[in-house]
Amino acid sequence: MSVSLRSLLAVTAVGLALVSAPSAFADGKVKAVASFSILGDMVSRVGGDLVEVTTIVGPNSDTHVYEPKPADATALAATQVFFVNGLGFEGWMERLVESTGFKGETVVASTGITPRTMMEEGAEETDPHAWQNLSNGLVYVNNIAEGLCKADAADCDTFKKNAATYAAEISARDAEVKAKIATVPEAKRKVITSHDAFGYFGAAYGVTFLAPEGISTESEASAADVAKLIEQVRKEGVTALFVENMSDPRLIEQIAKETGVKPGGALYADALSEKGEGGGTYLDMFKHNISLLVPAMAGS
Ligand code: ZN
Repeated sequence: MSVSLRSLLAVTAVGLALVSAPSAFADGKVKAVASFSILGDMVSRVGGDLVEVTTIVGPNSDTHVYEPKPADATALAATQVFFVNGLGFEGWMERLVESTGFKGETVVASTGITPRTMMEEGAEETDPHAWQNLSNGLVYVNNIAEGLCKADAADCDTFKKNAATYAAEISARDAEVKAKIATVPEAKRKVITSHDAFGYFGAAYGVTFLAPEGISTESEASAADVAKLIEQVRKEGVTALFVENMSDPRLIEQIAKETGVKPGGALYADALSEKGEGGGTYLDMFKHNISLLVPAMAGS
């Protein structure tokens, strides 16, 4: 966090101390903040017309390396409920909450999922990308509904009803993803992306994902890691190589150049796309990814 932002946040916190807690339902709506675009979409679906959602890290942007802006502190100060992914995804979150003096409810959407861990440089790291398994998405939806019910008990029945409708759509998409992956022979289900964002997807749907960068885009890939991946692509005949919508494409471009495997486009990893780009919602993100992954893995 920059010094100027820190001092600005301090000023904001002082300012806030002079006013009472955010006035709920001024316009009849719950004010919610979501840390990143995928979660923002999920909160919007569960909240429907009754919730106004502000998203901190927007479409095609990287949450791992995000630096909070003064506007984020302002939004958080005016909100009743703050939805975060948890599992270490938002490294900047605690500091932002502290700086704003936020007194509302913080809901960790991934609560209750089984976290995956990965060994990175000899240390066990928690993989935060739990939304990449649609079954975990159902857990998120349940947590979101409970969080909104706490913020606005009078509308709890509506939130639960919205959640049930949405959950049915998520389950249907889950079945669709499984059916489409099943058309690809198991030995061909190998994919290379920029960072390890697809561990939960891989475990849920039976695909091996490899990446030069680890579970955070903050980590730097070593030349040895990249050389190893290039070797693996050549030896195992990997045909699926993808950039991600919110991370630096250069390592993948390098691997593409050295192996002659053409990148199959951009997967939506840690962020939605802008509306109209094909991955504007959590459900569309899977539809887009699977439409790219299946032909690339099959090598067709
Ligand atoms: Zn990530």
